[in-house]
Amino acid sequence: MESEKTYIKDSILSTADKERQLILDDNISRYNRAVQQSISQFSNLELARRRAGYIRYKAINGLEKYLIEFEANFERNGGKVIWAQDSAEAVKEILNILRKNKVNLISKTRSLICDEINLVEKLKEADIECTDINPGDFILNQFDEKPRHLSSVLIHKSYHEITSILEKKFNVSFKHNPIEILEFVRKNLRVKIETSTASITGANYLIADNGSICISENSGEAVINNSLPKLQIVIAGIDKIIPSLMNLDALLPLYATYSSGERINTFNTIISGPRQDGEKDGPFEMFVVLIDNGRSEVMAQKFQRRALGCIDCGACQNVCPVNRKTFGVSEGNSYSGPIGSIITPWMKGLEENIHLSYSSTLCGSCTAVCPVDINLHELLINNRSDSISKKNYSFTEGLTMSTWHQVLKNRKWMDWGKPKWKNMLLKKLYSNRWGSDRKMPTIADKSFKQLWEERREGIN
Ligand code: SF4
Repeated sequence: MESEKTYIKDSILSTADKERQLILDDNISRYNRAVQQSISQFSNLELARRRAGYIRYKAINGLEKYLIEFEANFERNGGKVIWAQDSAEAVKEILNILRKNKVNLISKTRSLICDEINLVEKLKEADIECTDINPGDFILNQFDEKPRHLSSVLIHKSYHEITSILEKKFNVSFKHNPIEILEFVRKNLRVKIETSTASITGANYLIADNGSICISENSGEAVINNSLPKLQIVIAGIDKIIPSLMNLDALLPLYATYSSGERINTFNTIISGPRQDGEKDGPFEMFVVLIDNGRSEVMAQKFQRRALGCIDCGACQNVCPVNRKTFGVSEGNSYSGPIGSIITPWMKGLEENIHLSYSSTLCGSCTAVCPVDINLHELLINNRSDSISKKNYSFTEGLTMSTWHQVLKNRKWMDWGKPKWKNMLLKKLYSNRWGSDRKMPTIADKSFKQLWEERREGIN
């Protein structure tokens, strides 16, 4: 399969990039220290995780009810909800709104779903300029790279790389002061924001009981995006729903802790609709585009639907020993890491994407860290099992596995042939997939059974 081949090829390159690995290790260590400090705010972290997990699971299980409740309440507040089955429909609806309002310059906050539906490219094709007003996204764009991390888009970049690219692209010079860089980026973005007539924003949560949108971030971009432009479009996956405003109390501190190591994010914005009579700021018109784009397929899976409770903190990416080496390469999805490996095969096609569910050691670190208590490593096994039940494997794969099965369950076959021959056969069959950077394990001269028998017979 093409996507699997590309994934393996790119993963080998990424794993061999020692410099990148060092930068990642360094940045993740810093993140880990911050998280450790922040979790001290929970008197009972396990209880907090279970509570948050229950809220998200309850929301996912009652999706239809809560989405309709959200729609009714948001429209009562003066906004308009649009439902989109897939990314094409979502893009079409967004373009319709922008064209109707003669918009040619918009500002966009950090949003995974915008990456998922390729919105920036589609807007560009329609001659609409879209500026990323999140400082991290703005800097990453200078590298011509797509985000590979759910929450920390620059976690694989060093301070030196960031200053160098900005100095080169903007002909400026920095005195190695991060604040100076941030101010430079903000100044650049400010001009764009002030001239934008519309804004596009993601959503952390859609709150059913009062029809509001909650955005939690540290750079203040959502506040600006909600205050200045006259037209605001919020794009969200249908899985972002939560039953009540009261649920934020459980979710926001956990999100801040596990996404950035903060106790609580600096800006937590709750938007309930367009500007009301007498209000001095806010958009005059506001839309929420609710996107399915394969989420119903995840919902249809008995166990894996639990993955839709994800709050996009990225913690599972940081702990996963496989993801730390491959680091989201060529997955081509906005959801990378363990959570991406669970939902992508259902959202984008099992056959083409099931290899992602095998890119895990199943060590369980992802499950142990997840703030909303998703049993990620078990869901990866569910994916593998479902894929096998659907006979999603090639003839050669099927034949190989059934041969191994026969050999391993039969002692006579296990003992057949000399270790030297077996090693030659294994090398011939698997050395390509094993790769040249690792030494292939070899079969010992004597099996455990032989050693055991010799011991019992007193030979050794
Ligand atoms: S699955 Fe859990 S740990 Fe991973 S990004 Fe989602 S909420 Fe965070």
